[in-house]
Amino acid sequence: VEDRVYNFSAGPAVLPLSVLERAREELLCMPGVGASILEISHRSKAFLEIIETAEANLRKLLGISDDYAVLFLQGGSRLQFSMVPMNLLGADQSADYMVTGSWGKKALEEAAKVGKTRKVYDAKETNYDRLPEPFCADGGTMDLDPQAAYLHYTSNETIQGVQFSAEPETQGVPLVCDASSEFLYKPLDIDKYGLIYACAQKNAGPAGVTIVVVRKDLAERADPNLGVYLNFNTHIASGSMDNTPPTFAIYINKLVTDWLLSEVGGLEAMHSRNAEKAKLLYDVLDQNAEFYQGHARPDCRSLMNVTFRLPSDELTTKFDAEAKQNGMTDLKGHRSVGGIRASIYNAMPLAGVETLRDFMVDFAKKNG
Ligand code: PMP
Repeated sequence: VEDRVYNFSAGPAVLPLSVLERAREELLCMPGVGASILEISHRSKAFLEIIETAEANLRKLLGISDDYAVLFLQGGSRLQFSMVPMNLLGADQSADYMVTGSWGKKALEEAAKVGKTRKVYDAKETNYDRLPEPFCADGGTMDLDPQAAYLHYTSNETIQGVQFSAEPETQGVPLVCDASSEFLYKPLDIDKYGLIYACAQKNAGPAGVTIVVVRKDLAERADPNLGVYLNFNTHIASGSMDNTPPTFAIYINKLVTDWLLSEVGGLEAMHSRNAEKAKLLYDVLDQNAEFYQGHARPDCRSLMNVTFRLPSDELTTKFDAEAKQNGMTDLKGHRSVGGIRASIYNAMPLAGVETLRDFMVDFAKKNG
């Protein structure tokens, strides 16, 4: 498709071209169904097959056992900021929160409205450019409560571009992870988690569905007086079908996970592609350190969101505008960090990152 740009949006974000083509082919009439995915009942056999395959694909890609439920919910990750404490934080308990960026901060603010919380780490003083030790040298330490109901962290901070390379050690406390902007970028050891949630609109599909992987025994803690939709057990018991689920978003998620399994070859392969792509850009930052200043400390740089600043606001605006003229869009950084943010999720092709790399080298040469 000739006029498709390289879209570096932080989300909703680029999707695999083959997924879009398949969706286009099937949009008017799904094979054997005679109608569009947008028109059929969520109780129909055709849709049941889609949601079951979407779940089976996720279980296969991530090695999720029967101890865990896989849920397809609405309300975005922002609803999970509230639902997680509503379900997992008992009245006599306290939950630990790590604040490594804007999203972790918001998650904590919402949880504090529900129950007792403790902030066990906050990198605000350095504008969230680092993670705690051992993930980041001199990152400072966490102050964990061994009795906490859970420890919540944000595995990839979309705005700042800092990412955990492994799960934090919790001393037996259930680990809860907001994986929104990295989900499916590499394999995970699911058994280390109590709960993982991710809105789909970065790596897993379009906006409209949020995937929650939750250990069933933890979900049993939920207060039975919670509103029906707000209780994880409603969705566990009904296979995410108590009310009408976001059928189109789940269909696209199924196509994306089909793509990961059959075209990419699984999450190991996805991870090496992602590492290769990110290295191209970080090498430019390191080789042009007079011109480009990376936001994240080198030992916790995100493979998904590459954040950096230029010598001035004028140059940043010029960079963004010239990139656009060269077919690369959505590169402006979030206002709290400034500069440029290149989101290079799973579906961003290597060629897109190479184009940006070449542009960055050239731009530094001409403007440095
Ligand atoms: N957490 C993270 C890490 C995010 O990147 C986002 C979205 N940018 C959210 C939470 C909020 O997601 P939603 O807009 O789906 O509520």
